[in-house]
Formats: sequence, structure tokens, C-alpha cells
Amino acid sequence: MFVAACARQAEPKSGVAHPFVDTVLAPFVALLPFSMTLPRRRADSLYSDIFLPEETQAIRREVRAFCDAVLAPVAHRLNTTPEAKENFPHEIMAAMAKAGIYEIPFAKDVGGRGLAYPTLATLTVLEELAYYSPSLASALYDGQAILVGKTLDRAPEHLRSRYLPQLIRGEFVGCFATSEPEASTDLSVASMQTTATKVPGGYRVNGVKRWITNSPVGDRILVLCKTGETLTMLLADMHDPGISVSAPDQKMGNHVQLTADVTFDNVFVADDHVVGAKEGSGLRTAIGALVQGRMGIGAVGVAMAQAAFDFATDYMSRRKVFGKELARMQHWQYKFAEYAIQLETARSLYQKAAIRFDKEGGADIEAAMCKVVGSRLACDMARDAIQVCGAYGFVKTLSGPGTHFPLESIYRDAKIGEIYEGANEIQTWVIARHVFGREYTG
Ligand SMILES: Cc1cc2nc3c(=O)[nH]c(=O)nc-3n(C[C@H](O)[C@H](O)[C@H](O)COP(=O)(O)OP(=O)(O)OC[C@H]3O[C@@H](n4cnc5c(N)ncnc54)[C@H](O)[C@@H]3O)c2cc1C
Repeated sequence: MFVAACARQAEPKSGVAHPFVDTVLAPFVALLPFSMTLPRRRADSLYSDIFLPEETQAIRREVRAFCDAVLAPVAHRLNTTPEAKENFPHEIMAAMAKAGIYEIPFAKDVGGRGLAYPTLATLTVLEELAYYSPSLASALYDGQAILVGKTLDRAPEHLRSRYLPQLIRGEFVGCFATSEPEASTDLSVASMQTTATKVPGGYRVNGVKRWITNSPVGDRILVLCKTGETLTMLLADMHDPGISVSAPDQKMGNHVQLTADVTFDNVFVADDHVVGAKEGSGLRTAIGALVQGRMGIGAVGVAMAQAAFDFATDYMSRRKVFGKELARMQHWQYKFAEYAIQLETARSLYQKAAIRFDKEGGADIEAAMCKVVGSRLACDMARDAIQVCGAYGFVKTLSGPGTHFPLESIYRDAKIGEIYEGANEIQTWVIARHVFGREYTG
């Protein structure tokens, strides 16, 4: 009974648009165990994508087909195996690149798809990836495609045209480094300690960056440095002399998202690898990508909440307590009806943020709102989903029958969304600033 609750038949999918998908997916589909079926997606029957452009709906179908075939079979292993350099899913990153998933956020001149609504499509990709593995979505898409990719997209043309096509083809693993042991939320010049000192032809970088996603396997790093009284973003090669990376941090969750300390010891970076408009524009450069990144955290939160909702509602319609299914208990019916409302709200909010960003080039207030709403919902939903599923929510693997369960990892993975890419308190500060004005909020 519970095996069935874990693995349900997928809805038939249609309209897979990208020509590489069939060839990329075929070998993965062939590896699926015979009994492997996919979860039933309640969002498909509860909600409508009616106001989304056809382009975005096609991206969702395309990426869902990829995720059902490539991610679903390995998601449990990815989400429950502790961090190690050798566990980084290079093969999935390569498959994503081959399937053209890194093309989605970018313009045609660098090898992208040239979509009319690239941010909306990018967040849709994130939601689909994160439905199976939030940490893979965060590392391989929020980190790689948004934080690194979108920063390179705004870099001077010689950097953009050189590195962005490589990123889209999956040829390097990128890192985005602002946080330090003593500074993260506060990225002021006074707090930042990593320095870039001017020397003939470039800079010498010294300092330590902390929590840097993908760094244990990284090839290139965008690093925010103090240049006198300003901040400057530089692009460094992680294989250059003077850069060292610690072993991956052992975290509560997000195991695919390998983080580590990156130490810079007199590392030379050439003048033409300043990423912003000029020296001193580093904070603006970093924040530019972080606005889209935090919308991404909202979309990842929606995905986690939806996955927990799908599992729990399925389970509730099967598990009998006191002679009747949990789904017949009004307490839980109302709770899950409330969550259905919150899911629709959170998804609509991230989609609206993305559409505004695509149309107007900015959406600070919606980005802050959708990050808070999505990340909070993921935590709340995961906690209640575990509660209603009891021990079957708490367990990772039931060793007798050898059945895997997903809620344990969703609960662990949800928490970081409230903290990183601007803690939720900072997002509410941003919103309050719009309400009351800087004069009151600072
Ligand atoms: C899995 C993971 C991946 C990460 N990836 C990256 C990465 O790739 N690159 C990178 O640069 N960094 C990365 N980080 C760092 C992350 O962005 C920071 O952890 C985050 O910004 C919070 O900083 P902090 O942990 O130093 O907390 P602090 O800055 O010390 O803040 C602690 C807490 O104080 C509260 N707080 C702070 N300011 C205020 C305020 N004004 N009002 C009220 N409360 C406040 C918030 O609750 C906050 O959570 C990652 C972290 C993790 C755990």
C-alpha cells in the first residue's frame, strides 16, 4: 500500500518541444527499474496555467519529461547521500546541457533559446527540477544558470561572449562568491575582508569566501572583493595558483549543493576580468543576479511544497486510522485545502515576479515577496505533511520492504530557503522600505 503511495503512475505528457530531448532521455529511460512509476502531480488537476505564455507551458512539459526520466530514479539517493566531492552529479549536469536546459535563460547570440519570457521559463525549470531534488535545482540551476549565468550575461561583452556559450554547453562549473566567515547578509565595504589590490595588468586577491556553492568541483569563480573603499566583482580561474578549496561542508540538508571555504592567497586576476561595468560596481553586479536568484528560491519553495503536498494527500487517501482514511478527517481536509490556496498564491507570485522582470527589467518587491512566501510555505508544508503521515513521513527508507520516502529530505532541505540569498528578514525589510520609505526603514 505505501509503496503505491510513494510511486504513482505519471500523467501522459505531450508537446515535448526540444529536439535533443528524445536522444538525451533514451538512455536514462532504459535504465529505469521495471516497477518504477512516477508521482501523480496534483498541480495539474488543481491549477490552471491559463495566463502563462504557450512558450512557458512548452518549457514546463519539456523539462518535466527530462526530470521524470533523469531525476526521478536517482532523486532519493541524491537527496539523502551526505556531501562528498565524488557525489557531485556531473552526469546530470552534462545531460541537462545536452538537453538544452541551460539554453533556456539566455539570448540566441550566446547560444540560448531567445525566449520572450526567459525569467519565467528559468523559474519554471527550477520548479520542475526542485520537485525531485531541491538541492540539485539550487546548485545546478539557481547557482549555475542564474547567479553565475545571469552575472556573466551582464558582464562586458568580451567576457559574456567568451564564457556564456561555455556555460550553456555545460563546459565549466561556476561559483558565485560574496559570503565570508564574518560577512554575508551585510555586504558593506566595512564588513568585507577579501581584498583585490591593484598590480600591473590586474589585481592580487587575498581572503576567504565561505559557503560557496559548487566550489569543491568549481572551475570558475565570480568573487566580490574590496577595492579600497568600493567593491568589485572579478572572474577568477579556480585552477590558478593560490586558490584552494576545503572539503565540502556537512550540512543539515541540500546535500547535492556542495559548499566549502575558498581561500585566495595572492591570486592574480587580469584587468579584463572585472565583471561589472567598471571597478567599484561589484555590489550592483552581485545584487543584479541575486534578485533573480531569490525569485528562484521562491520557485524552489513552491516545488518542495508541491512535492510534499502530492505525497501527503495521496497517502491520506489510503491510510486508515480508527477505521477511516485520514483524508476523511475534517481537521486535515481544511489544513490541506489551506495549503492548496497557499500553493496557488506562492506559484502565482513567483510567476508574476518573473513576468514583471521580463517586461520591465526589475521586480524587487515581488522578488522579495515570492522568496518569503515560497520558502516559508515549503517549511510549513513539509512539517505538516510529516505530521499527517506519522512515521511514514519521518522515515527515509523502510528497510524491511526497502521502500524510500521523500518527506524527510524535503523537511531538511526546506529550511535553508528562509536563510540564503538574503534572509527572509532582509526581504521583509525590502518590502517595508516600499511601504514606509527609506527615511523610516534605513
Ligand atoms: C547551502 C548554502 C549555500 C550557499 N551558497 C552560497 C554561495 O554560493 N555564495 C555565497 O556567497 N554565499 C552562499 N551561502 C551563504 C548564504 O548566502 C548566507 O548563509 C546567508 O546570506 C546568511 O548569512 P550568514 O549565514 O552569515 O548569516 P548572518 O549574516 O550572520 O545573519 C544571521 C541571521 O540574522 C538575521 N538578520 C540578519 N540581518 C538582519 C536584519 N537586518 N534584521 C533582522 N534580522 C537580520 C537573519 O535571520 C539571518 O539569518 C550559502 C549558504 C548555504 C547554507
